[in-house]
Amino acid sequence: MKYYSTRDTSVRISAAEAVKMGLSRDGGLLTPETIPQIDEAFVRSLVNARYQERAAKVMALYLTDYSEEELLSFAENAYGADKFDTEAVAPVRKVDAATYCLELWHGPTSAFKDMALQMLPQLLSAALRKTGEDKTVCILVATSGDTGKAAMEGFADVPQTRIMVFYPKNGVSAVQEAQMVTQEGENVGVCAVVGNFDDAQSGVKRIFSDVAIREELLSRGYILSSANSINWGRILPQVVYYISAYCDLLRDGEIAYGEKVNFCVPTGNFGDILAAYYAKRMGLPVGKLICASNRNDVLTDFLRKGVYDRNRTFHTTMSPSMDILISSNLERLLFDLSGENDAEVKGYMEKLNKEGCYEVSDKIKAALAEQYWGGYCDEEQTARTIARCNETYGYLIDTHTAVAMNVMEQYRAETGDETKTVFVSTASPYKFCNHVLSAIGEEPKADGVELLDQLHEVSGVTVPRRLAALKGKARRFDLTAEKQEMEKVVLDFLK
Ligand SMILES: *Cc1c(COP(=O)(O)O)cnc(C)c1O
Repeated sequence: MKYYSTRDTSVRISAAEAVKMGLSRDGGLLTPETIPQIDEAFVRSLVNARYQERAAKVMALYLTDYSEEELLSFAENAYGADKFDTEAVAPVRKVDAATYCLELWHGPTSAFKDMALQMLPQLLSAALRKTGEDKTVCILVATSGDTGKAAMEGFADVPQTRIMVFYPKNGVSAVQEAQMVTQEGENVGVCAVVGNFDDAQSGVKRIFSDVAIREELLSRGYILSSANSINWGRILPQVVYYISAYCDLLRDGEIAYGEKVNFCVPTGNFGDILAAYYAKRMGLPVGKLICASNRNDVLTDFLRKGVYDRNRTFHTTMSPSMDILISSNLERLLFDLSGENDAEVKGYMEKLNKEGCYEVSDKIKAALAEQYWGGYCDEEQTARTIARCNETYGYLIDTHTAVAMNVMEQYRAETGDETKTVFVSTASPYKFCNHVLSAIGEEPKADGVELLDQLHEVSGVTVPRRLAALKGKARRFDLTAEKQEMEKVVLDFLK
């Protein structure tokens, strides 16, 4: 299967090249030219399979220049017992008769980004071999907190790669920052940017499209690539867990085959919920895709009105991984809903670039209304949801997950839809100790990683092993840059 660009469908490249490049030269996102279809027999064949086997089978449908054995060995490495603290990898927890929670934070960095970023480095290493690449790939990452750590954890000391992470200086939690600045590995670099996530992401995109920098780096033996969710190698491993969740519900007798399930996803860059959309497009029986935002409600407005308008106040919230006003992966959805009309998509993206705003066609508006429901949740509601979930179900959830749970409840109240619904849990509550403690009525007594103990004492929930190990770990990085200095940081890193 070939991949093409959302802004130019005459581009045709292999999966390996798509993973290696990350982003098309024209600025478009690389996207599979057809969406493989799955049927009941396929889904049933996965019901009693391990997560690793499910991953290999699903990914093989898209990565036709990788063998299924190869993909299975990658999945064994990515989701093994040394990395994940549960054999199920991505377990589904039953919350009440019609509500389930898909827990995606059992990996090494305690956020769902591990699901893709334990896989991507292996896909990329293989892609370098398959395409005969002799240069070193430098991964540039803009992170709202979780991607940066998960990417470094995945790429640390992977041969023929280097990785440089930019995070917004005051936009990440203390635990997230501690995780990043203590990262081990000879090939990693970390830099705080004075600004917010969109500043960091714009800087990375600027470097990607700067021909002079690319040529300079090439002469030094480097090519640039991306581990952000614009890379197809990030989206695909995420498609797996939606299919896996459906298999679990079947296996446990919670649903009969064909019964539709809704997914409610806490959303920032639109990667995770896009993966759910692909699972649905492949033929998985999925009802509504509920898109949950925090106070940065640009997607809520978009899904309701068909107008994407980033010209609004940026809010720093307690769910920082969703503090985003430009959701890059929306471009892939628009491409699909427009009937793969590259010119139309290009037009929207140019308007977004120039005016910060665009309005989609009536055809796309109708498709959005049919498939999606968008809602948002403010800070107070987020905190109250954490408390209520803890009291009612004895289940401690993080701030991002709380946004999803709250928006799911809003959806049910507004529509009366009783379809069984899975809301997605994207981070361990331990990544956001201070907010979680305050939400359940405890005053945070200390700062940063010291709060892990306090949350453990009051909740009794086990602290993830790697987070517990952060205490006393030496800081390795201390670099801060203005947003216009990001080019220089990269050039210095790749001396
Ligand atoms: C990245 C992230 C999100 C948002 O996911 P997108 O794919 O960017 O929409 C939500 N929650 C957490 C904890 C995250 O790290």
